[in-house]
Amino acid sequence: MKVLIVGGGVGGLALARGLAGSRHEVRVFEQASRLRTGGAAVTIFSNGAAALAGLGAPLAGFGGRLDALRFDTADGRTMVTADLTVLAGKTGFPVTSVPRDRLVEHLARGVPVEFSREIVDVEVHPDGVVAVEATGARYEADVVVGADGHRSAVRRAVLDPAPAAENEWTTWQGLTPVLPELVGGTTGVCVVGDAGLVGLLPSGDGLLMWWFDVRRPLEGTPAAALAARFAGYGPLVDRLLAQLRDEDVEPFRHVTHRIPDRWGSGGATLLGDAAHAFPPTQAQGANQALEDAWLLSRALRADPADVAGALRRYEALRTRRVRKVSRRAVSERTNKPIPAPVRILLGMMPSALIGRAYVAQLRGVSSVLHEEAV
Ligand SMILES: Cc1cc2nc3c(=O)[nH]c(=O)nc-3n(C[C@H](O)[C@H](O)[C@H](O)COP(=O)(O)OP(=O)(O)OC[C@H]3O[C@@H](n4cnc5c(N)ncnc54)[C@H](O)[C@@H]3O)c2cc1C
Repeated sequence: MKVLIVGGGVGGLALARGLAGSRHEVRVFEQASRLRTGGAAVTIFSNGAAALAGLGAPLAGFGGRLDALRFDTADGRTMVTADLTVLAGKTGFPVTSVPRDRLVEHLARGVPVEFSREIVDVEVHPDGVVAVEATGARYEADVVVGADGHRSAVRRAVLDPAPAAENEWTTWQGLTPVLPELVGGTTGVCVVGDAGLVGLLPSGDGLLMWWFDVRRPLEGTPAAALAARFAGYGPLVDRLLAQLRDEDVEPFRHVTHRIPDRWGSGGATLLGDAAHAFPPTQAQGANQALEDAWLLSRALRADPADVAGALRRYEALRTRRVRKVSRRAVSERTNKPIPAPVRILLGMMPSALIGRAYVAQLRGVSSVLHEEAV
């Protein structure tokens, strides 16, 4: 089959890796002129790491392993610590914070991405799919996969013209060599209070991934505005704020898609943010894109006689999982102060129990940990 993947981001590259060595002719069209490596770091949970291994691109040798995730209140009390080694123990895959440039370069190894190719339309015909480039050139394929992110042109053409909806939250994030006492360890810290959430994750190579989830727009330049908003969030945050420079901070608006039962028709389908963008509060967007790529590559590798049927089964299996993540992510509840009774209850829970709760939650949203097949 001819398989055309639109978008050379995390999901599109992962699918191409999963189809490497198959009998299909696979092309990846990326609108940018080179790999897009901005965006600080992403947390790859055990489900994403299992998907990467299944795609033939296991995570190894880069990023910062996370053995524990501590949640503090802005007034300096530790609410709860999650023991993330439980996830590694139960699934065989640790949790890692990975600089996005390293992840994208890792996935692109051996994938002949065709750059500066922007797809603007997709036509679904009974005998195949045509992708139309901005230049007007037309490409016929048996399967077209829209892995072109939350502003997906493929989604617009085959599914839904409505853009992903913005809510009032923005993440301001960066990846810099600060707070050496955290960077040298394997513990991440989240600090929650009235102004929002601050996250601090060691990400390897002496780098700290930090982010601020902020509800209202910032007034003024980002570093000064964040310093004003988050002053007094404890000594770690105060020291980070003292070293922030405007050029290190990138904003990302939180957006959400409606996730329908079907993501396309005929030989056209979607993957990753194109199908199901949701706010980053569960740190699952890239993990779910990798899950999609894992399941779809297995479906296509099997060389199904009924391609459209296989794509619809892939969509149905992934919809069931990804809707659960989306519902939690959209609530933005991790960014809001925790009511006192819940805080007290959480404080009494052993960290291994919180780790087990994470495992249960991950299994609920994972196809790869259940070895699902289309
Ligand atoms: C602030 C923030 C923090 C996050 N943190 C995490 C985290 O910790 N863990 C996690 O799992 N996820 C995280 N995510 C989510 C994660 O980044 C995304 O879910 C993930 O990158 C989606 O991958 P994708 O391949 O679907 O889309 P993208 O990575 O957006 O890739 C889409 C690609 O398609 C290309 N493209 C777009 N349009 C076209 C076109 N018309 N033709 C050709 N090419 C096109 C783009 O240039 C791009 O390269 C975070 C997101 C944000 C905003």
